Amino acid sequence: MKPQKQKYDFVIIGSGFGGAVSALRLSEKNYSVLVIEKGKHYKPEDFPKNNWQLRKWLWLPGLKMFGIQKLTFLKHISIMSGVGVGGGSLVYANTLPKPKMPFFKQGSWKDLDDWAEKLSPYYELAWQMLGASVNPYLGPADLVLKKIAEQTGKDFKPAKVGVYFGKPGQTVDDPYFEGKGPARTGCTFCGACMTGCRDNAKNSLDKNYLYLARQNGAEILAEHKVIDLIPLDNTGEKGYEVIFKRSTTYFGQKKSVKANAVIFAGGVLGTVPLLLKLKKKRLPKLSAQLGKMVRTNNESLIFSTVYKGDFVNKMSEGIAIGSIMTYDKNSHIEPVRYGKGSGVWGTLLVPLIEDKNFWKRNLKLFFKLLISLPVKLKILLTQDFASSSTVLLFMQHLDSTIHLKTSFFGLSSRLDKEKNAPTAFIPEALNFARAFSKTIGAIPQVLFTESVSGIPSTAHILGGACMGRTAKEGVIDKNHKVFGYQNLYVFDGSSISANPGVNPSLTITALTEYGMQKFPIKKEN
Ligand SMILES: Cc1cc2nc3c(=O)[nH]c(=O)nc-3n(C[C@H](O)[C@H](O)[C@H](O)COP(=O)(O)OP(=O)(O)OC[C@H]3O[C@@H](n4cnc5c(N)ncnc54)[C@H](O)[C@@H]3O)c2cc1C
Ligand code: SF4
Repeated sequence: MKPQKQKYDFVIIGSGFGGAVSALRLSEKNYSVLVIEKGKHYKPEDFPKNNWQLRKWLWLPGLKMFGIQKLTFLKHISIMSGVGVGGGSLVYANTLPKPKMPFFKQGSWKDLDDWAEKLSPYYELAWQMLGASVNPYLGPADLVLKKIAEQTGKDFKPAKVGVYFGKPGQTVDDPYFEGKGPARTGCTFCGACMTGCRDNAKNSLDKNYLYLARQNGAEILAEHKVIDLIPLDNTGEKGYEVIFKRSTTYFGQKKSVKANAVIFAGGVLGTVPLLLKLKKKRLPKLSAQLGKMVRTNNESLIFSTVYKGDFVNKMSEGIAIGSIMTYDKNSHIEPVRYGKGSGVWGTLLVPLIEDKNFWKRNLKLFFKLLISLPVKLKILLTQDFASSSTVLLFMQHLDSTIHLKTSFFGLSSRLDKEKNAPTAFIPEALNFARAFSKTIGAIPQVLFTESVSGIPSTAHILGGACMGRTAKEGVIDKNHKVFGYQNLYVFDGSSISANPGVNPSLTITALTEYGMQKFPIKKEN
């Protein structure tokens, strides 16, 4: 496919939550829209059967692997993100919690609007568009968490998720958009949401926003990466030339289209490096805040793998995230599962060791590895790793930031001197993981980068192009307009200007909905 026009009202870079909402709302307002997405357009049957099908799971284009899951290892954080038409929604765990009040009252956006009040109707709209409903089935991991919550007096809820819960396996005509949307199939609770739903039950963005945007005439160009942007005058008032090339061949030819306006929606790992590159040459007036205030949910991701008892090979039952527990006023915990057979993570895990001293930690790790070898071998040889494991996702409102830079060697991270950095060793998370594991006969393990190098992991990377009152405070204003240039906007996770403390996709969707309603309807010529 190639673009049908030489010039568009809007070119949108990336088709994740921010890009998909923008595409629909702008096309509804009569604007011509081109979405450029570097990943593939996956149909349900194209998704991997499990994550051992590495070419369909991982995004490593240099090795001809064009999957939906990207892994990025930086000095201060290991990041998981999604790639493809639908962005992170292809690989995400469907869960759509609304952040609590602290989110709306902190960070660089706090005084720019009454966010809690203004965004409230847009959270409702986002839930509706993403087909959110309360998970009707608690799998074994959810029931264990529920029991712990009851015993410790904590709040436990089934998760609100973007999944179609019709009759399992039965396909029906569009149940969400008065017949304008695609047919949907009832969820089978196979737990495989994070390797892509092969059953057509997950409400990923290609099933709602992008599907409807296409009906309005929006074009989606998959397998192309935007690599440059040339303003047509000093200010961007006359628009931009957008340069892109094929992302799934080694020697893609450069092509271009013109746009009156451009929306950056490539997610933090797409938008921030591209803007940093543009600041060096094409767009020098971009704010010096670019790449700063990059944050996570202050998360901890700890695998708890059962090696004895009733739960062996049972933990995949349910949807990827079926429930949420409030741990304390700052923290939430969700039990996360992969589908049967998705055992790749098992090869990258080591025991949980939290000593802050590198040498002591690695010495302890060495002995712990020796001691736990029989259990690891038992799991490897006699069990299915994924269906014996629960990933305990611990998230906090507390803030910690790093900043991102680009150089000849690519993207790198730096610590913010005056701020806390994300840590791999959150005491509450580690204590909970140990207690949870003990209850079910499991061992707690983490990605090797955490125990070996003390580098935390995240699936929720946010910020880097945050809001501010002026260019001194932020990269964009409260309407997502980039300071320093006309007709440039950022609508994605990089514009999230505080830590939501919970999974962020609903918030990115709501914030983009709110921003989009401010664009005027284009008068027909
Ligand atoms: C395993 C996993 C599970 C998750 N589970 C949840 C969950 O349950 N709930 C939740 O709320 N969040 C979850 N998340 C996080 C969620 O996926 C992200 O926060 C969200 O997708 C970010 O949305 P976005 O709009 O910033 O862009 P993204 O969804 O990241 O999309 C950006 C898109 O832009 C494309 N792109 C980037 N650069 C370019 C370029 N130069 N040219 C063309 N295309 C480009 C990328 O390929 C990508 O498709 C999960 C993430 C992972 C990895
Ligand atoms: S549990 Fe299985 S069927 Fe249900 S949404 Fe997830 S992948 Fe699809």
